[in-house]
Amino acid sequence: MDKHIELCPVCKNQGESVSKITVEHLVSAEHQNQVIGESYQICTNEDCDVVYYNHANDVKFMKDEIKVPIWFKKNADPKYACYCSKVTEKQVIEAVINHGAKTVKEVNAITGAMKNSDCKKNNPMGVCCHKIIQEAIDKGLAIK
Ligand SMILES: [Zn+2]
Repeated sequence: MDKHIELCPVCKNQGESVSKITVEHLVSAEHQNQVIGESYQICTNEDCDVVYYNHANDVKFMKDEIKVPIWFKKNADPKYACYCSKVTEKQVIEAVINHGAKTVKEVNAITGAMKNSDCKKNNPMGVCCHKIIQEAIDKGLAIK
């Protein structure tokens, strides 16, 4: 199968590949038995309710079948910046506005973000939350 044509089954956007470890960890208990196959994609379209999908095995998992809100999907609540330590984007922005934090390191010291990093399992894309925290800092600095 050509990886480049693994489009979201609903919105047809190009997804990004995600490790099976991440999918297994985040799909809710009642849907665990549907986590079959090895190759998973995540739909990055904020308007689409599909999260993970696997064309080879014809499975897909929707937003309400995942244990955590997906930060880049519409109406994510709460919107986590760091999934490992459950720190929200709002907390990061407050650290910037109320405590003058400017760097990821300063934000982490104030909020406790990235303390128990296990991003491969906790972050829906299986990536380190460093980049998401930086984006939240940028938002905070823009408000300030
Ligand atoms: Zn989609």
